[in-house]
Amino acid sequence: MPEVLNECPVCQQTILQPYLTCTDYTVSREQFTLVKCASCSFVFTNPRPSMEDSGRYYKSEDYISHTNSSKGILNKVYQFVRNRAIKSKLDLVESFSPRPKSILDYGCGTGEFLSYAKSCGWTSAGLELDDDARKLAKDNHQLNVDHPKALSGLPSGQFGVITLWHVLEHVHTLNDTIEQFKRCLSSEGVLIIAVPNHQSHDAEVFGEYWAAYDVPRHIYHFNKASMVTLMERHGMSLVKTQGMFFDPFYISLLSTKYKNGYTNPIKAFFVGLKTNSLGKTNIEKHSSIIYVFKKQNG
Ligand SMILES: [Zn+2]
Repeated sequence: MPEVLNECPVCQQTILQPYLTCTDYTVSREQFTLVKCASCSFVFTNPRPSMEDSGRYYKSEDYISHTNSSKGILNKVYQFVRNRAIKSKLDLVESFSPRPKSILDYGCGTGEFLSYAKSCGWTSAGLELDDDARKLAKDNHQLNVDHPKALSGLPSGQFGVITLWHVLEHVHTLNDTIEQFKRCLSSEGVLIIAVPNHQSHDAEVFGEYWAAYDVPRHIYHFNKASMVTLMERHGMSLVKTQGMFFDPFYISLLSTKYKNGYTNPIKAFFVGLKTNSLGKTNIEKHSSIIYVFKKQNG
């Protein structure tokens, strides 16, 4: 059964207006409505699959976040992007010199980022919902990876860094999970959250076909304002934002496929280029944004 939210997950107000109707192009071909909170402008998928029901929307040969398949151009682009991005992610983490040198990657997938962090001397722990991905992370990288339900049992103040790379937009228990992150962070710790930005240039170009709406797997659609509002309500302050360079190319490539039925690499390249160019002077035009938060009074 779909789950209907009667109040905004960010500000708890109840006036929710229709915003956009999107199609699930990767798995079900079903349509989903996005609504916008009249009070704080937060956009979210509503109704959404219940937590129990959401698993079936991840069952697809095309859904590649958790696989290491290198078949097809989209998969090749994805693998390339991921490997290049891993180093720049850890560079960002290390620029804050967080202590202790202990990292939790929430939604760690098959563990490539964590494995790289571990090789650079970080004590590395991961949480991952997908059973197969969790097993691959353990088998391929000898990582300490548990089911996300273990989060509430982790000791307080244990981590210098908690990272979520394109994960928070999937999390049903949004507010409880953020409270747990805050509890598990050390007083000087940083929480790093990367999510798609629905106010981006590529989102404007592709509209309902913008691949990063990714309904119904993405149940929240952030922009900078809504992310900051949400986190400030949990006592976290924004200390840095950074655009993600490769995302607009990959997202645009997928979006051309959804819109036209075939991939158009030339169009995707130019939309990606323009998105990055606009994002240089205005972070709010970036396709995906990395946000770094610290605890207030930390
Ligand atoms: Zn709201």
